[in-house]
Amino acid sequence: MSKLVYLDHAATSYPKPPTVMAAVSDCMKYCGGNPGRGSHPLAMGAASEIYSCREMAAEMFGAEPDRVIFTLNTTHALNLAIKGLAGRGKQGSGGFHVLCSDMEHNAVYRPLYRLAVEGIIDLEVFDTFPAAPVRTEDLILRSLTSRIRPDTRMVVCSHASNICSAILPIRRIGELCRRRGIHLVVDAAQSAGVYELDVDSMGITALCLPGHKGLMGPQGTGMLILGKGAALDTLMEGGNGVDSLRGEMSEDAPERYEAGTLQTPAIAGLRAGLEFVESAGIEAIREHERRLGAKLRDGLLEIPKVTVYAPHREGGVVLFSVEGYTSEEVGRILDGEGICVRAGFHCSALGHNTLQTPADGAVRGSLGWSSRERDVEGMLRVVRKL
Ligand code: PMP
Repeated sequence: MSKLVYLDHAATSYPKPPTVMAAVSDCMKYCGGNPGRGSHPLAMGAASEIYSCREMAAEMFGAEPDRVIFTLNTTHALNLAIKGLAGRGKQGSGGFHVLCSDMEHNAVYRPLYRLAVEGIIDLEVFDTFPAAPVRTEDLILRSLTSRIRPDTRMVVCSHASNICSAILPIRRIGELCRRRGIHLVVDAAQSAGVYELDVDSMGITALCLPGHKGLMGPQGTGMLILGKGAALDTLMEGGNGVDSLRGEMSEDAPERYEAGTLQTPAIAGLRAGLEFVESAGIEAIREHERRLGAKLRDGLLEIPKVTVYAPHREGGVVLFSVEGYTSEEVGRILDGEGICVRAGFHCSALGHNTLQTPADGAVRGSLGWSSRERDVEGMLRVVRKL
């Protein structure tokens, strides 16, 4: 295993810090019962693990602890936010207008697509110009503003793309949405732990993020962090240890949105992941990924048969194709050399269409905090041989 070069951090971070693994194991040893459902010492231990993670996440993302809702992953958080804000049971009621960007992952696009097909929303896409070398922020804002209508109720967009290193100006989008009374749902799958995010000051209604990528936590963790006053319809109903004699879910977050037993050991690991990120420093992590991303991008650009998509964007996600090979072939050759990348469409038909990648997609190398110079050099050596 140690010979493998892991350049698939956009999928999930690996290896997890030893403190994360220890926290999961300790929680399984010392916590029992069901957090929030019992007053015996084992259940109280579980509840305190959950609460301390909620507190740390609230501090990191500019919210209060009761606005931090634990989910299984980003996709779960996005479904809860999008469908919860759209309201359920509105089928055939005429709908309202929703905007998403042309770089979205299917975790955003598919829930929106379904709502559109059901007639609940009218979905429109705005442009992000990821391949443009300059002034993209102004172009993005102009494209978004020009599509806002009186019935626009929600903007949903990623902060950082998962197929290249394009970034959306979330603070400016948030200001615009706040001025126009529009909900902003942000997919921070690629930015949480790498870029600063502050729910309240950025005008975000619902911040959706993974615990298992930049925050270094175990798979099976994600969070939805609500803006002040944001209220959603529920996606799932069930027991949560609160108001047990009533048929309806109680109104109060976070319990309203957390039906059933939480993944306590994974959340304990996530808390250790947050501590790890805090002590490494978000800025240092971002700079590390930026520097190695530049090395990989520059190295690939020097190889004659290679096309790099959105080559002006700085960051740790690098997308490329090699003339004469399908993306699957390049991926398989790299796999064979022990270099873990991902080929194909990366769950983002919208993004690949925007970047005009080949019909069979492209290859993504994605760097993380644990990536080293020699990992990039190893990958470049293999691609050069093609
Ligand atoms: N959005 C983006 C931009 C992503 O990159 C991903 C993961 N590839 C997701 C959403 C979905 O994340 P998760 O696997 O945590 O549900």
